Amino acid sequence: MGASEAKKKVPIKEGLFKVHTDEEEGYLIGSRCKKCGEYFHPKRVVCANCYSEDMDEVALSTRGKIFTYTIARTSYPGTPLTAPFITAHVELPEKVSVISLITDIDLDKVKVGMEVELYFWKAREDGEGNEVMAYAFRPVSN
Ligand SMILES: [Zn+2]
Repeated sequence: MGASEAKKKVPIKEGLFKVHTDEEEGYLIGSRCKKCGEYFHPKRVVCANCYSEDMDEVALSTRGKIFTYTIARTSYPGTPLTAPFITAHVELPEKVSVISLITDIDLDKVKVGMEVELYFWKAREDGEGNEVMAYAFRPVSN
């Protein structure tokens, strides 16, 4: 790898989301059941609603609403997160609930029903100098 080569952005877990590039917006990767229409995240090979194996891989909406949240006062071991931080169930228009970190808001300002948008942030670098990216949601900037 040459020094002029741009660092790659790699997801913290393969298959969970697609990191944005200069040309394309990033998104969470989900599944849609072709039989009953239910959406899931993370993606699944079998529908948890009707057990069909006829699943499509889809790009999920990048905006949603906080369904419920909790404030963590202790960091998880081995993560780059510094407590306190907010974790929420974000409901997307597809009626799929995504567990996510909520950032860019004061702890006492977060509210159920708040509109939030997806973004990606660099959690760390791997041994090859790639940027390991994680996802989070933050209040929609109007
Ligand atoms: Zn189904």
